[in-house]
Amino acid sequence: MTDKADKEDLRYEIPTHAFIALARRGMEKISLDQCFLKNCDNSDPELLEPFKKEEFEDNQKHVKKIYVKCKKCNGIFILKLETIKHVAKSTKEKNQEPLSMGIVYALDEDGNNLGHLGYF
Ligand SMILES: [Zn+2]
Repeated sequence: MTDKADKEDLRYEIPTHAFIALARRGMEKISLDQCFLKNCDNSDPELLEPFKKEEFEDNQKHVKKIYVKCKKCNGIFILKLETIKHVAKSTKEKNQEPLSMGIVYALDEDGNNLGHLGYF
């Protein structure tokens, strides 16, 4: 499914940030340039190497998985970017709270969910 293994291009497939909703206090911004594996605190993009992409979609969503190798812990994790199609547009809400556009999860190499990171 990977059409071109151009590693620099894969970097652009990853949003730089995700947003976490904080109840009434708006959104917190987190960087996706970090290793999401346990016991690793790498947040240096130079030490993160996206090397593979998988993409698929069904009627409801478009899913993109970016495999990233961390050169600090030598682990591999997967950023799973899920975009829901047909997001209902709210006409009543006046405040510009973004409706869910995409959800990002981190998975380990075996596909185990490491957690829901936020929205992008
Ligand atoms: Zn790491």
